[in-house]
Amino acid sequence: MRTRVEPDLSVETLSGVGPKVAERLGRLGIRTVRDLGEHVPRAYLDWEQVGSFGDLSAGEEATVRCTLERIRVRPTRRRNLKLVEGVVVDAAGVRETAIWFNQAYLTKLEPGTELLLHGTRELGGGFRVARHEVGGTGLHTIGLVPEYPAAEDVPSYRLRGLVDAVLPRVRFFPDPLPARLRHEEGLPLRADALFAAHRPRDRAEAKAARERLALEELLTLQLGFLERRRALEEASSAVALGDDGDLIPRYRKALPFTLTEEQEKAIGEIRQDLADTRPMQRLLQGDVGSGKTVVALYALLCAVGSGHQGALMAPTETLAEQHFLTVEGICNDLGVRCELLTSSVPAAQRRAVRDRLASGETDLAVGTHALIQEEVEFRSLAVAVVDEQHRFGVEQRRALGKTTPHVLHMTATPIPRTLAQTVYGDLDVTEIARPPADRKPVVTRWVGHERSSEAYTRLRRHLEEGRQAYVVCPLVSESEAVEARAAEQEAERLRAAELRAFRVGCLHGKLPTAERREVMDAFKRRELDVLVATTVIEVGVDVPNATIMIVQEADRFGLAQLHQLRGRVGRGTEQSYCLLVSRPKEELTDEAVGRLEALVETSDGFRLAEVDLELRGEGQLLGTRQSGYTDLKFARLRDRDLIARARRWAEALVDAEDSVCEPLRREAERLDENNRGFA
Ligand code: ADP
Ligand code: MG
Repeated sequence: MRTRVEPDLSVETLSGVGPKVAERLGRLGIRTVRDLGEHVPRAYLDWEQVGSFGDLSAGEEATVRCTLERIRVRPTRRRNLKLVEGVVVDAAGVRETAIWFNQAYLTKLEPGTELLLHGTRELGGGFRVARHEVGGTGLHTIGLVPEYPAAEDVPSYRLRGLVDAVLPRVRFFPDPLPARLRHEEGLPLRADALFAAHRPRDRAEAKAARERLALEELLTLQLGFLERRRALEEASSAVALGDDGDLIPRYRKALPFTLTEEQEKAIGEIRQDLADTRPMQRLLQGDVGSGKTVVALYALLCAVGSGHQGALMAPTETLAEQHFLTVEGICNDLGVRCELLTSSVPAAQRRAVRDRLASGETDLAVGTHALIQEEVEFRSLAVAVVDEQHRFGVEQRRALGKTTPHVLHMTATPIPRTLAQTVYGDLDVTEIARPPADRKPVVTRWVGHERSSEAYTRLRRHLEEGRQAYVVCPLVSESEAVEARAAEQEAERLRAAELRAFRVGCLHGKLPTAERREVMDAFKRRELDVLVATTVIEVGVDVPNATIMIVQEADRFGLAQLHQLRGRVGRGTEQSYCLLVSRPKEELTDEAVGRLEALVETSDGFRLAEVDLELRGEGQLLGTRQSGYTDLKFARLRDRDLIARARRWAEALVDAEDSVCEPLRREAERLDENNRGFA
């Protein structure tokens, strides 16, 4: 009788897996038999097998099946080097000396043991063993050998063995893909794909298998996104905002520039959303300085113009304060009442602001997520703008969604549209791909450490011309406190050395809000020439007179981060510069070199996002961690084509009969459970 195998049984039910191994596997995200079956290789070694040592020329690498005749440790002159020598004979009767380093335990092998040896024929004779397998199926040494995402205490060879034990069970794992999709896309059954991923006959089979699994995974995610969004839309309805009033025309007139074509297009899309009772859920993405805030303010004023309220939320107090300064100026001109609400506003004042929001006396609120965390009541909140929403996380986004405002999310970390659809799957996407035309791209130079004094000479020249500057301190990972101290020390050092003649301020995350604000304001008022800062200036700081930036030890920063930092200059009409000072080139990883070269080459944020993806390969494009979808098992963010296909199918299936999507839905719930820890 065939016994049914539960895919969700714990790995501990496998023979040889006790609590300790189970715990180690758990750290790799493997808890159940199914997790193990779905733990697919990250790569394959393509190892050829030859029949005889006699067929190998010097330097050639292969796997040879042979029998051990005798084995011993040969002493060497180097004390910590042990050479193990085995005399082996292959099927053709050719005798060879197999050589291992530092594996003295191998002398326990009995003469007559069957071995599979993978290694290289040495120039001066002998066969240097890289990997051996006792007895043998060739699981570890022949053909496309799977290499698994592993850990020191659960190495790849261990995983190969464990996976081998669960492979016969993969056919019991559910296959959630609708038959129609599988048929039209010409995809194998899930079980076959899993089997092929672990034991491919050739590379083409491995690729097809991974893509099959990835498509399913992406479809599951996308469908989940779309359904969640549907549910949200059905449960809530927003105010349809019309075209009435003169506020919008007055706003347009008040702007000291005409909107670019891209901005107009974005506004068009937003207008359309706002005119509907279906709550808007739109992502506005565009580079730093591309003019998103102007567009966002437009959306907020649409609410105010129709007699409702708007809210603008930022991830940090600094950013909220920055936004407030911008918004306040325009609002005053237009007669719109706006207020700042963050947790550092004194309690009494905060209460007063809240009262005015509840009564409708205040039209626009700018704040941190204190705006939604505390029980702030609006008389009629119609539009909410969430800046840099990836920092808010999924949960907060949901919390917002429960109320009924139209929501516009903004991000200055643009990513290609297909990626955006995966990372922010439940949002519509609008791009502002080009900045206002009068903007000169920031000239970026990569300066070696040894020439950093030239960088400061250049910086001083800008200061002498009445411009301002930023110096970004090296990234310190230990803690914000350590980083803050380092920044203060650096500011102190610069005041005594390179920047002796200038007024130097220091900005970091540990400063009390009031003080931080003071420093920012002083910089804005040109009472400071230079701001020495940590990455707190990454977003939101907007001082057009600042035309040069030095980033110290730029190689330590991520690409997206450097791009953001660079966005602090080049905000006026003046030519701006960004000088990336790195440690000596020889000390840098290829990846760091790639990052710095890319920055010098282009200032297109979409292009940089792609480079980032290429350099880092997988995963953690800024924002994906925060948004909770880091642990894609099969798909990769660079699977553009798969992502687009999955999106199309999700849109086609979201209206299908329940029975068609039910298995996918269950799968989505499972992924959601697994992801919850990240949100
Ligand atoms: P983002 O929010 O995308 O970083 P902002 O909206 O803050 O960009 O705009 C950056 C700067 O460009 C601001 O000083 C803004 O006043 C200016 N700006 C915005 N739109 C235009 C435009 N169409 N023409 C000229 N300058 C613009
Ligand atoms: Mg902005």
